[in-house]
Amino acid sequence: MREVVRFINPYDPGKFPEDLPFDYDEVVQLGSNENPYAPSDEVRRAYLNSFSLINRYPSATYRKLKEAISEYTGFPEYSIAVGCGASELIEAICNVVVEELDRVVIPMPSYTMYAIYSMLRSASINFPVFEGHKIDPQVIAEVRPKLTFICSPNNPTGNTVERGVIEEIASASEYLVVDEAYVEFSEKGSCADLLEEFDNIIFLRSFSKFFGLAGMRVGYALCHPEIAEAIEKVRLPFAVSYPAMNTAVAAIRSRKYYRAIRDRIVAERERLLSELAKIDWLKPYPSEANFILVKVEREGLCDRLLERGIIVRDASVMGLEGEHVRITVGTREQNDRLIEALRD
Ligand code: PMP
Repeated sequence: MREVVRFINPYDPGKFPEDLPFDYDEVVQLGSNENPYAPSDEVRRAYLNSFSLINRYPSATYRKLKEAISEYTGFPEYSIAVGCGASELIEAICNVVVEELDRVVIPMPSYTMYAIYSMLRSASINFPVFEGHKIDPQVIAEVRPKLTFICSPNNPTGNTVERGVIEEIASASEYLVVDEAYVEFSEKGSCADLLEEFDNIIFLRSFSKFFGLAGMRVGYALCHPEIAEAIEKVRLPFAVSYPAMNTAVAAIRSRKYYRAIRDRIVAERERLLSELAKIDWLKPYPSEANFILVKVEREGLCDRLLERGIIVRDASVMGLEGEHVRITVGTREQNDRLIEALRD
């Protein structure tokens, strides 16, 4: 076995309803930044209609999916690469770009998979930590990275990275990944139009959050056509299944439905934030995503909530000082159950 594999901590996926001694429907799952609402009717139909095709490989070019993504994002199909969730694209980008001992910068705290796939390429990784989670591009520029990973809105802190900062990092790095998995929840919107100016930025998107298709595993990258082609060359063939492709296309067609859901989630996020702020041993941070990072001045909160069938994510393991939890914004009822339990 390669030595590096021994150094990699297993990705901590958090707890799932199946892990708890409750009926599935009784559990309040606020641990994985999923969308708590049901799919649109169009997505439901697309899923059921895909059933008769499960003996087939999907079309390898994913033309239908790319056409839909192109319509949704305004970027041409040749600037789009698709994959089995944004996760697979992170791996593919590392495989395309990173040579042994190349410098990779991952500001912390952030999404764990950047480090895992960079380590597997035997990269030399720099993990700068910034006061108040505000990235200083100068610090990154000094490293002269081959590849930098920025997440905006950032998991787990919920804050976005300013456009000017992204521009500075793009100028200082050979390649820059801007992970916009949660972008639809942010008022500031996407910075993907920077592709007109910078051909070294790769924007990552996911169908798992805004479009509520975490179980289908679809993600995409917006980038220079040469990078898109390279990503598609190295990712798994047929990485997106027929049902996944068809539900993703249907989700884009019913985006009005998902925008209405997003508005509910954003309104609930603000309500949850103010309710959490009223509890004196909790310090929630403002968020532009569908989750809230909370500093906790007591120990064992995650376990106490689990006893009540409520799953939140222990964020203390995500490179933050002190006890933190990350709470996904649920439905109004789910959030009420959480608040009640916390007050108790
Ligand atoms: N990027 C970020 C910042 C994430 O939080 C996640 C999922 N938690 C992903 C990428 C991966 O998403 P997907 O389900 O599309 O693989």
